[in-house]
Amino acid sequence: SAVPERTDVAVIGGGPGGYAAAFEAAAQGLDVTLISDDERIGGVCLLRGCIPSKTLLHVTELLHATQDADTMGIAFQRPDIDPQALRNWKDQVIVKLTDGLAGLCKQRGVRLVRARAHFAGKQQLHLEGAERDTLDYGHAIIATGSRPMALPDVDFATSDRIMDSTDALALEEIPESLLVVGGGYIGLEMGMVYQALGSRVTLVEMADRLMVNADADLVKPLASKVEALFDATHLKTRVSRLKETRKQVRVTLEGEDGSRDRNFERVLVAVGRQPNTQDLSLDETDVVCDDQGFIEVDDQRRTGDECIYAIGDVTGGMMLAHEAMHEGKVAARAIAGHSAKFDARAVPAVVYTTPQLAWCGFTEQQAERDDIDIKVLRFPWQASGRALSMGTEDGMTKLIVEPHSGRILGMGIVGPQAESLIAEGALAIEMGAVAEDLALTVHPHPTLSETVGECAELFLGQATHYG
Ligand code: FAD
Repeated sequence: SAVPERTDVAVIGGGPGGYAAAFEAAAQGLDVTLISDDERIGGVCLLRGCIPSKTLLHVTELLHATQDADTMGIAFQRPDIDPQALRNWKDQVIVKLTDGLAGLCKQRGVRLVRARAHFAGKQQLHLEGAERDTLDYGHAIIATGSRPMALPDVDFATSDRIMDSTDALALEEIPESLLVVGGGYIGLEMGMVYQALGSRVTLVEMADRLMVNADADLVKPLASKVEALFDATHLKTRVSRLKETRKQVRVTLEGEDGSRDRNFERVLVAVGRQPNTQDLSLDETDVVCDDQGFIEVDDQRRTGDECIYAIGDVTGGMMLAHEAMHEGKVAARAIAGHSAKFDARAVPAVVYTTPQLAWCGFTEQQAERDDIDIKVLRFPWQASGRALSMGTEDGMTKLIVEPHSGRILGMGIVGPQAESLIAEGALAIEMGAVAEDLALTVHPHPTLSETVGECAELFLGQATHYG
């Protein structure tokens, strides 16, 4: 769209945080300009994060299901994978969603501008790439997101064989051997995708276990699956050197038992993400960043500059799309003069591996760290008829409960459908539910959701099928 001289709200970045903020600000009757440097709206989440990864992980899940079906008397032949068709399928999903968002912008009166923005003085932006290059604003919302962190001496842009998550999602080729550096959710998810498509995958992680933010008992079934699927998992190991040749990458791994060199066709580096603040000319504003570059905000998402708000990955936190969207709505309402603030009691985290892992609210390890008195309840899925009928007995539902009141403080799930099951935990925590509320809620039988009700029953005594 044409750039006006002035806008009420300038949103910088068209990811889930940015577009949610823009939609809400427009709904509040404000004139909104949404600026994004990507060709399509949607940010990392739609273009190179949540959506492409989950599209590929759906295919991964299908492949795992066909492999597991032999114990049920169904044998599938080796799958015939057409990488080009798979890429097209993934890209088609992205195009549909980004087209839908562009349509919503139009319908809701949000002005979409393709440009790279930086601050150019008091309440003014410079827009690089737009036909009019300055824009005055009443308020600005920074939603510029984050980018992958590299290892020293690695430049993803010039490397053919060392990939970040964006390169990995492009699925340029299915390498014969892949090293995944980092045992967080991105490394595990993408490692499983490539393994299912035919790569031999090795994983290295510096910590002594995978998914360090989640409780160890929940991670255990996932770690067993990783062990079964991947060639090797090296914990307490770091990559000290990467040397790329024409055909492979020579990697030096340093573990407790010394250092060794190995060759891989490709390497995926998934060691974390850093905020996109470096090109914003924040010194033109009163915005304050912490020592890692994340923008500091209050609970209304206001920065050190009273006219500037910040939301999503650029402010750190859990760095998840649903958090960015909620923060975006809060910022827009605050700008419109409402007393909105972001005070979610539980932001769910989901890992879309086989099995899936999800948690929200307090984890057991966090409660221990903060010295909070808790009661932990575990319902193993061997006691669930539905889990058995699906051939997934190693799942678990876990509740973290306040001992004297029974109030639900946290929930964790490992197993299929954890992505959806966890929503009941988030609702329970937000509503201040006690274990009895969950136990007395009639859950449909036979479903995995019953494990939530039965886990809560354990707080009161025995569960119908366990304890
Ligand atoms: P972003 O989505 O990062 O968008 C920021 C946008 O701003 C980008 O388009 C960027 O190009 C643009 N921009 C930056 N600087 C400027 C500038 N100066 N001017 C104009 N535009 C600019 N989260 C989940 O919740 N669930 C998942 O399953 C999930 N899976 C993921 C998988 C992968 C592989 C990755 C990498 C991430 C995943 N995430 C997931 C995280 C999720 O993508 C982010 O939390 C989310 O996208 C953050 O949204 P945001 O609005 O803060 O910014």
